[in-house]
Amino acid sequence: MHPVGLTGIFMNASQSATSHFMKYSPATGDALGEYPIASETEVTSAVAQARIAQAVWHDTPLKVRSQLLEAVLNRLYARSQAVAQTISQEIGKPLADALEADVGTALSALKYYADLGPRKLRPRMLPNDMISLITGRAHWETFHPRGVIAVISPWNYPLAIPMSGIATALMAGNTVILKPSELTPGTGQLLVELFQEALQALNLPTHLVSLLQGDGATGARLLDEPIDGVIFTGSAAVGQKIRRLTSEKGIWCSLELGGSDAMLVLPGCDLDKIASYALWGRFTNAGQACAGVKRLFVPQELEQPLLALLQDKISQLKVGSPENPANHMGPLISEAQRNLLSAQVADALTLGASCLIGGKPKAGPGWFYEPTLLSNVPKEARILQEEVFGPVLPVIPYASVSEAIAQINASPYGLTTSLFGPTDQARVLAPQLACGTVVINDVGPSNYAMLSAPWGGWKASGSGVSHGERALLELCQIQILSENRFFSWPVVGKPMWLFGHNPQDLPARAQTVLAFSSHHLSLWCPLRWLPFWQNRDKTRI
Ligand code: NAD
Repeated sequence: MHPVGLTGIFMNASQSATSHFMKYSPATGDALGEYPIASETEVTSAVAQARIAQAVWHDTPLKVRSQLLEAVLNRLYARSQAVAQTISQEIGKPLADALEADVGTALSALKYYADLGPRKLRPRMLPNDMISLITGRAHWETFHPRGVIAVISPWNYPLAIPMSGIATALMAGNTVILKPSELTPGTGQLLVELFQEALQALNLPTHLVSLLQGDGATGARLLDEPIDGVIFTGSAAVGQKIRRLTSEKGIWCSLELGGSDAMLVLPGCDLDKIASYALWGRFTNAGQACAGVKRLFVPQELEQPLLALLQDKISQLKVGSPENPANHMGPLISEAQRNLLSAQVADALTLGASCLIGGKPKAGPGWFYEPTLLSNVPKEARILQEEVFGPVLPVIPYASVSEAIAQINASPYGLTTSLFGPTDQARVLAPQLACGTVVINDVGPSNYAMLSAPWGGWKASGSGVSHGERALLELCQIQILSENRFFSWPVVGKPMWLFGHNPQDLPARAQTVLAFSSHHLSLWCPLRWLPFWQNRDKTRI
């Protein structure tokens, strides 16, 4: 294996415009490709070109924006196997996962925004309030792009996540610069190629979507440029930096960050089903999902039977090469990630946790780690305090639901909670959970594929949302068009609040305004209004 570090890249000695980095397979250590690191000049130029293209895109009809997303969708659909193959090689996830979770969600995002955009981004007349009515005003909400948007994405879902951000940003009329993770450069390149081909076919500026390869330093350089917004998905630590930076620059950002998501099992559930959901929720993508089931809370009387079921199911998980369709789980993304996971497990064991299965790296090449089940984990263990990005499932017994909810909410994170139990009871409990999504009788990661449901975290898990109508509107600047329709009506004349009033009318006027503002209307109100209405032409200014 190559000694790849956290970034998994090998830089050439020189950091000039011709610097490159290598991407290695986390399953075999084989080199997968060499990619150029964007130079400072290339970053500056990408932003400048995106700005020029943005002027064209701003005025492009919604129908054409929608056609671009459809054209990319058709190309991705036709090439789904090849794209999934690249994802599978770069991360080590099974091909079926890459097809379903990545390509499937990316296709849904393109389709969802291609359909939603033309319906939602037309100017919308706002319902009138009482003051607007009596003053003859009509208001429209109109939607304008923010400008040039940087999409900075992680490696764990390297197609679905950036595609969703790019589709949303483009539909809203923005131009996009993608900085994919340095751990999945090949997927980033394929994604942008799909756009480039579609843009050329539709005779649209190719700089609507551009690509900058490199690690965090390239991302930081991009953020130094005069961009108008950032869609960032990644760790809480980097997210915090981006939050500060964008706030200093006064630009918009959406942050989708880490999680320590809980699954809360209520009494009265089918335990075998629970174990199957927990198994997928925790071990999909080798445990490297932001909304993976990272803490499983179970009534104390059900702990032992559930542990037995989980142990049995975990022992049947096949871990190995992503090329073998029989395998459920591939390797971790990097040596550094595996070392971090080993340290988190060692800490729990030192503090008294019991390991029922797994608990160590798998021998042989590749950054594999055995699927692991822990019980008796003390609250202060790193496994329960930090984000755990790997195949380790701690089971925590609880005596009362309120105690379990208190422990779930004590986490600094708040992305999703999976709540299993009778639906009526789950609906009552959901508002007590401090997180962005509560999934009833299913697990968090599956919700990312539901494009109509906004996706976003509370607390350290981020701010803003992806997906849904909300995400589309967040990528717009709203302009209100407010029109005085009485202006050209000769009979109405000057409105009562312009200078030149008759002082004796002031009390009646004020009372009328208050009555209309508060909707405390009664029959006498219009009558009190009449005197200054009659006097209105006597105004002198
Ligand atoms: P990361 O924060 O290390 O990197 C994410 C991206 O940011 C990469 O492209 C990286 O090159 C770039 N980057 C790093 N430092 C930067 C800087 N200073 N300025 C600008 N860009 C910088 O995260 P990761 O390891 O790629 O991804 C895993 C994390 O992402 C986990 O914490 C996971 O929970 C989270 N995640 C969250 C969601 C969500 O929807 N909430 C989805 C997927 C992953």
